[in-house]
Amino acid sequence: MIIIVNRKTTREQLDRLVTELEQKQFKTHLSKGENTTIIGLIGDTSVLDIDSIKAIDIVDDVRRVTEPYKKANRKFHEDDTVVDVNGVKIGGGNFAVIAGPCSVESKEQMREITKAIQKSGANFLRGGAYKPRTSPYAFQGLQEEGIELLLGCKEEFGIPIVSEIMDVSDIPFFENVDVIQVGARNMQNFRLLKELGKLRQPILLKRGLANTIEEWLMSAEYIMAGGNENIILCERGIRTFETYTRNTFDISAIPVLKRLTHLPVIADPSHAAGMAWLVEPLAKAAVAAGADGVMIEVHNDPAHALSDGMQSLTPEMFDSVIGQIKKYL
Ligand code: PEP
Ligand code: MN
Repeated sequence: MIIIVNRKTTREQLDRLVTELEQKQFKTHLSKGENTTIIGLIGDTSVLDIDSIKAIDIVDDVRRVTEPYKKANRKFHEDDTVVDVNGVKIGGGNFAVIAGPCSVESKEQMREITKAIQKSGANFLRGGAYKPRTSPYAFQGLQEEGIELLLGCKEEFGIPIVSEIMDVSDIPFFENVDVIQVGARNMQNFRLLKELGKLRQPILLKRGLANTIEEWLMSAEYIMAGGNENIILCERGIRTFETYTRNTFDISAIPVLKRLTHLPVIADPSHAAGMAWLVEPLAKAAVAAGADGVMIEVHNDPAHALSDGMQSLTPEMFDSVIGQIKKYL
């Protein structure tokens, strides 16, 4: 980090600031030019609050020269992280296919969908039990019962399960859920992220609706700082001025993340698109861009789905999408 000091700063003021920084265990390097003086800070600056340094009267500007995320940074961890879910791997060349309905609705629905997606090559079953819905009057999910139905399929079909958590108080219900999803709306629920840092299950962290890549990596850092380094990032589209699609699929986020972090990166073309016919081209684009997996919504009867029917693929459509993307792997 570099601190640019005001031209009119006196020697005494500068010394006071340098001493203060050194007392915080940073090494400093002074560079005096004709018009500006720059203090170079050496040490773990991720713990520093830039705004409070900017507020010091002799400081003109503060700039980071390294990223504020350390554990998620590829610079300090060159090799790809491979997340191992009881033998099923994601990242480092292992491609994950996660599929299932937006909402868990019934035992019959879950059994039918699990059988179909597994046959098509899915290696994870995903279903929402706790649903973050825009309207309080919309179906909120079967909650505990939904988790039980997912666990039933895990046992019957031997497939690992993924489900979304919305609140810290629900953590006990997720004990046997193999991968815990944090949805877009909770990407910056820092209290939840901290609690998930104490768990050992992998966390599938979706990008917030209006969050930058750096904010997203900082959220991953929250979980990692707590000790849980098994994180899978999921691009699901962001809010832009475009309204034709549900969200705008930020395809460039995939190669950017692959460069910035060692964590696996997957794509959710269903929530990005909002329309079933768009899922296939977006899934292909994600694979071509280097994604480590896809997460796709599949329903046995999309027209009667309790949530996200419009973007849900039938098992037949899903089978064809998987056939298509396999050509690119
Ligand atoms: C979901 O995965 O069903 C979901 C609610 O997605 P998102 O958090 O990306 O909106
Ligand atoms: Mn959904």
